[in-house]
Amino acid sequence: MKRRDVLGAAALLACGTSRAQTAPAFAAEDLQHAELLRAAGLQDTQAWAFVKELCDTIGPRPAGSDNERQAAAWAQARLTALGLANARTEPTPMKAWVRGPASATLVAPVTEPLVMAALGNSIAAPPAGIEAEIAWYTDFAALKADTTERAKGRIVFIDQKMARARDGSGYGPAVAARSQGAVEAARRGALAVGIRSIGTDHERIAHTGAMRYEIGVPRIPAFAVSVPDADRLAALHAAGKTLRLQLKLDAKSDVETTTQNVIAEVPGTDLADEIVLVSGHLDSWDLGRGAVDDGAGCAIVSAAAALIARAGRRPRRTVRVVLFGNEENGFHGAMSYGDRYKAVVHQLVSESDFGAGRIWQMKSRVQPAALPLIEKMASLLAPLGVAWPEQGANEGGPGPDAALLMRRHKWPAIGLAQDGTAYFDVHHTVHDTLERIDPATLPQNVACWAVTAWLAAQAPLPFGPAPL
Ligand SMILES: [Zn+2]
Repeated sequence: MKRRDVLGAAALLACGTSRAQTAPAFAAEDLQHAELLRAAGLQDTQAWAFVKELCDTIGPRPAGSDNERQAAAWAQARLTALGLANARTEPTPMKAWVRGPASATLVAPVTEPLVMAALGNSIAAPPAGIEAEIAWYTDFAALKADTTERAKGRIVFIDQKMARARDGSGYGPAVAARSQGAVEAARRGALAVGIRSIGTDHERIAHTGAMRYEIGVPRIPAFAVSVPDADRLAALHAAGKTLRLQLKLDAKSDVETTTQNVIAEVPGTDLADEIVLVSGHLDSWDLGRGAVDDGAGCAIVSAAAALIARAGRRPRRTVRVVLFGNEENGFHGAMSYGDRYKAVVHQLVSESDFGAGRIWQMKSRVQPAALPLIEKMASLLAPLGVAWPEQGANEGGPGPDAALLMRRHKWPAIGLAQDGTAYFDVHHTVHDTLERIDPATLPQNVACWAVTAWLAAQAPLPFGPAPL
């Protein structure tokens, strides 16, 4: 046949066959095995056992702390006991922030202590504390728009509110007040910055979380007060009162230490060099016990990989569990993982880091040719109550560490969205404890992750590169 005839025949074939026949498809036995994993996942007890033991025996795991290191040693042993291979801990240097004692006391128009927490990375206040009038702002945008001298010599307070949403979409617009509030306040001459907690609860608990400074802008102490305390300040401000605050805040920055990723695998067969990465982060904030953020995620993906390991068929690609170090305060674990494995083909990066609620939606970020496979995966998750949105189905984000890797390396990603309606009630607070996890929601998560990881490992074509 002449070359033109070959092309003509190929075109004829493409026109004459339906899309279903030409689209890439999973092997029937792989789909059957996915159904088996789905059923077994719904019976899972390992995820609950994992997160319970992590919280009960280790508790909070601030980045770079002894507790985080102990958790890594514990997790490495635990992943081996779950039947995973090549369990290891990969340390990386970092500079840690360590909380000290802190208080914020309203001294005018009344005297009363506020419930507060220093924000992560905040510098210490001078030992005698800071006492000053409050310059109150209705939200972060109002502070940024302020061109007056109002903040100068005062403690800026940003009353930024956060909206509750199943998909957590209230967090993004609100969290800038926490992360960038100190920079904008200091640019206007403020002595310190306080914010309404970035959370959706209405309890007298403060939400911590990372904030940052900018080179060339003075560093000022930063803290959050509980939502009811912020309401109290707002009411006094609305009544026309002059508010004065005394702030004491001790903290250590730039403490030389290490964090570490914990890694374990279900080794692949013919495509073992390619990685299907499922992850969570092992570090947590210090106020609670890191149950919801992110003990639950570590537990879910570990249990899902363990299920694949013991289900009787080895995956084609290697399913790799990564429990990242220091997600909360600098992403050192994710960055060091990317540096170390940048030359390795990643078929998938994904992360469970939104608590322990049921998964309700799947989104991807894969090369368009792989979308028929993602759609098929979604159809296997549909009986578990997981939707695959027609709009934006391929514009997903896979969780913070995995998203960093996706963006840096164009590694393809899948996001399994959990119901986060209540997530920001406890996020980064003293209430992030085991009691906030409903053990009944974990097996559905394990089932979803086992099906997703298995089918990604069996897929007949690469998911990458991610369209960014
Ligand atoms: Zn987290």
